[in-house]
Amino acid sequence: MDCPSCGDELVEIGLTVDGHRLTMVSCSECDTRSWHRDGDAVELDGVLTDLSATKTRYRRSLAN
Ligand SMILES: [Zn+2]
Repeated sequence: MDCPSCGDELVEIGLTVDGHRLTMVSCSECDTRSWHRDGDAVELDGVLTDLSATKTRYRRSLAN
């Protein structure tokens, strides 16, 4: 998958939050990011709202 902004290769980072598979797709070149949950694209605001309810587990996932 290539970045829609600059064409560089995107990096996918997978998390599992409350049983949902959450994937952050990030471009290391221009820092464009998008999120996907259970295979569906989600708005970042929606992700952050969800994560605020599961903040502790989310941070633990990031630490791994
Ligand atoms: Zn990019």
